Amino acid sequence: MNNSVPIPANEPERIAEIQQLCLINPEPDCAFDKIVTLAAELFQVPIALISIIDAHRQWFSASIGLTISETPREHSFCNHAILSDELFMVSDATQDSRFKDNPLVTGEPHIRFYAGAPLLTHQGLGLGSLCIIDTKPRPPLDDHQIRLLNHLAELVMLRVETLRNLNFVDLPTGLFNRPRLERDISVFFSDKDVPVTLVAVDVVAPRILNDIVKALGYTFSERLMLLIRDRLQAVVPENLKLYRISPTRIAFMLADTATEAAETLYRHILEAFEAPLVCDTIPIQTQIGLGILILNREKACSTDWIRSLVSAADDARENNAGWEMYSPRRDHAQQRAFRLLSALTIALQADDQLRLYFQPKIELASSECTSVEALIRWRHPTLGDISPGEFIPLAEKTFLIRSVSLWVLRAAIKQAKAWQQQGLNLTVAINVSAADLDDEMFTDTLTALLKQHDLPAQRLEVEFTEGALIRQTEVVQHQLERIHNLGIVIAIDDFGTGYSNWSYLRDIPASVVKLDQSFIRNALRHEKDKRIVKAMIRLAKEMDYRVVAEGIETEETYKLMRNWGCDEGQGYLMARPMPAIALLEWLESKPLQY
Ligand code: C2E
Ligand code: MG
Ligand code: MG
Repeated sequence: MNNSVPIPANEPERIAEIQQLCLINPEPDCAFDKIVTLAAELFQVPIALISIIDAHRQWFSASIGLTISETPREHSFCNHAILSDELFMVSDATQDSRFKDNPLVTGEPHIRFYAGAPLLTHQGLGLGSLCIIDTKPRPPLDDHQIRLLNHLAELVMLRVETLRNLNFVDLPTGLFNRPRLERDISVFFSDKDVPVTLVAVDVVAPRILNDIVKALGYTFSERLMLLIRDRLQAVVPENLKLYRISPTRIAFMLADTATEAAETLYRHILEAFEAPLVCDTIPIQTQIGLGILILNREKACSTDWIRSLVSAADDARENNAGWEMYSPRRDHAQQRAFRLLSALTIALQADDQLRLYFQPKIELASSECTSVEALIRWRHPTLGDISPGEFIPLAEKTFLIRSVSLWVLRAAIKQAKAWQQQGLNLTVAINVSAADLDDEMFTDTLTALLKQHDLPAQRLEVEFTEGALIRQTEVVQHQLERIHNLGIVIAIDDFGTGYSNWSYLRDIPASVVKLDQSFIRNALRHEKDKRIVKAMIRLAKEMDYRVVAEGIETEETYKLMRNWGCDEGQGYLMARPMPAIALLEWLESKPLQY
């Protein structure tokens, strides 16, 4: 910067404030336009401006009588107006040694008279000025005129504050919002390179807040948030800025990263929320968790830190851990999850990434194979093989599972039809997720595809897990009945792992239960498990279910399951999941008898 430019004493704070207020390159604002028009009319001048003094330039937030929108700072008259809190005036610039050679005086717009009222914040920082300019010399303004111009400058500042509040305040709570936190962080690192501690206080699970809204209404949930805000404000230091960064989370910054003081604060916050909040006489128990993130300048450049902060807070709350530091390891898992889900969307459209493997199910009494389970396989061009055990649960958290299931359904029906045409009447079992049964679409498509390929419904079997039954709604129930009525066998997968409850079986049109591999594995090892498995098989048989044992890896288990009355078995002992072609070879190679 030109050394001749006078700089106010509080320059760094001033620049920070300008950045915080978003005053550089702001959107055009009607109120600003009206104020400069008013000033020009009132003082009968050709030019009036609202000028903001940045580090190197002055910007015109609104102007009348000028076509340019900025000038270098060293040419700015307004730069002199911010040096004090009083109006700055020049009667004839050609007679003033500071300005007579100024290009704005010697050239366009040929400034002679200038009067600028500083735009002052509450802390007395001069951000710029509201000024009037004439191309002819004028006598100095009188006291009355000075007061008028100062009033207009105050009006500009009121408008600046209003705009800031609109952009940066969370209206229900009056706290700052997430964009404001992001801005404050970038301002913090604009002139410091020391780490800052960010704390997010997660007060209630989003699901619970949702339930509260459903049961008691928005007004109640907003009042609850106000109580939460008040309780938090009562424990944190008075000058700490609080930001509501999401419906259930409030964050703050600790510039001092000394852990002892910080940990005392965290403890106080946790203690403060031990007692329930009483909102409209209803006591609400919060479940609080504090996520802590030490942010440095480099990490602050990515926009990802908010997600890291929020996930740390979420984990702390869900694990009932009090406070938890952000963990990069957990974050890697989340990043991978995100990457896999995006890649899966592409894989579903590509024709060479996904395929089905088939694992035989064997009738234990005869060692015959009459059906196979279709298991999806995904080979990503750069990530390699990704196990369904990893990506299916992720897909189930999103709508993507529906596309996966439709892909599997199409591929399985095509394969079953191809086998049928080769004279091989294999039943193909597909795995279906709870979300597939949430509406009519999956069952409609299934029905249509069977028809389209002219495949008997008996060639298809549907497996779904106990977990899916937890959300058993009338819709799920109805879809299962439709599938059953088509003549498709329904099996309950991983039976015994979830919320085993025999009573729900009554309402489900399933005819097969697949005992989970963990039971089968343990049945050999522990006497108690042995008795449980035996009892489960007996009970299932008494209720007329066919029983399938999953995960048979040894002959010993095979025999045990057969002797205990299991109808079918599946496991590495007999065959691993394999591509359709390999399955044909396996079938021809006459599987072993046990
Ligand atoms: P699942 O439906 O219970 O499938 C059985 C899983 O156990 C398969 O794992 C299979 O390879 C494995 N397995 C079979 N026999 C043995 C054995 O003897 N020992 C051991 N240790 N494992 C055995 P996979 O293919 O990795 O699939 C894992 C899970 O992913 C499946 O469990 C199923 O829940 C899900 N899944 C797989 N394919 C699909 C699909 O197309 N759609 C849906 N929605 N889920 C799928
Ligand atoms: Mg299965
Ligand atoms: Mg299973």
